[in-house]
Amino acid sequence: MSRFDRAVLTLLRAPSYPLDVHEVEDLTAHCRRIHFSAPELLAGQAIAPTFWLRLWIPVGGQEVQRAYTVTEVRRDAGLFAADFVLHDTPGPASDWARAAAPGAKLRATVYPGALFALPDPPPNGYLLLGDPASLPAINEILKALPETVPARILLHRQHDDDPKLTVHTRPNDSLEWTDLTTTGEALSGDLDGWHAWVATETGVTRRLRATLHQRLPKAAVKARGYWIAGRPMGRS
Ligand SMILES: Cc1cc2nc3c(=O)[nH]c(=O)nc-3n(C[C@H](O)[C@H](O)[C@H](O)COP(=O)(O)OP(=O)(O)OC[C@H]3O[C@@H](n4cnc5c(N)ncnc54)[C@H](O)[C@@H]3O)c2cc1C
Repeated sequence: MSRFDRAVLTLLRAPSYPLDVHEVEDLTAHCRRIHFSAPELLAGQAIAPTFWLRLWIPVGGQEVQRAYTVTEVRRDAGLFAADFVLHDTPGPASDWARAAAPGAKLRATVYPGALFALPDPPPNGYLLLGDPASLPAINEILKALPETVPARILLHRQHDDDPKLTVHTRPNDSLEWTDLTTTGEALSGDLDGWHAWVATETGVTRRLRATLHQRLPKAAVKARGYWIAGRPMGRS
């Protein structure tokens, strides 16, 4: 059996859930929060920080799969939110979110793989590198970090209004909206005993990971591409 066949089989066995659009909220001109009603999903799943769903997006009589992070969970109401970047180049998920209205329906498969887990013992600090697409995951990590573990958050600014997005910083955290394509600034400062979590465009993520590996042990760096410049990210 090929790797692709195995991946398809795993996905077919993974649980799927219906999602109903409950409310649509524009966070900025380039980011839309969609609140989904999904009591069945929330009853069946523990939601760890960075937990994400494979959303099946209808497009031209087919469905394509795109990854979105679960955030702002309100279990008592059976609700969670996903923040969709409304990126400049059209894409099925971003276009779907632009047009979404209460009552719209989607299907989601749960097969998230490895999620964020706080190391034991906790590190001296966390370097969190991302952009608006990974900000929901970064916010959930920040909510889970103990107060004693400071975070330095560097977010790649794509649009002037990105800094209006809420970042759940705590008193000892620092936050910069910056250009992550130039890695020097991102990695200056004392990182002794720190861990890093990186999620942004795939090529930029790869470069940041390589640079971080010169400063930190490999096990202290978790990095994942969240989107690919100039190409779709997902399968039919
Ligand atoms: C685990 C995981 C969790 C994720 N969680 C979120 C989330 O919560 N919110 C979120 O917005 N995204 C999230 N993403 C990223 C999202 O899956 C991708 O951005 C995806 O490409 C969007 O699909 P699309 O159909 O809109 O565009 P695609 O069809 O994949 O791409 C079309 C074009 O748009 C460009 N593009 C895609 N995404 C971006 C972007 N973010 N910025 C600029 N250009 C882009 C591509 O380069 C391409 O040229 C996550 C990805 C992963 C792997």
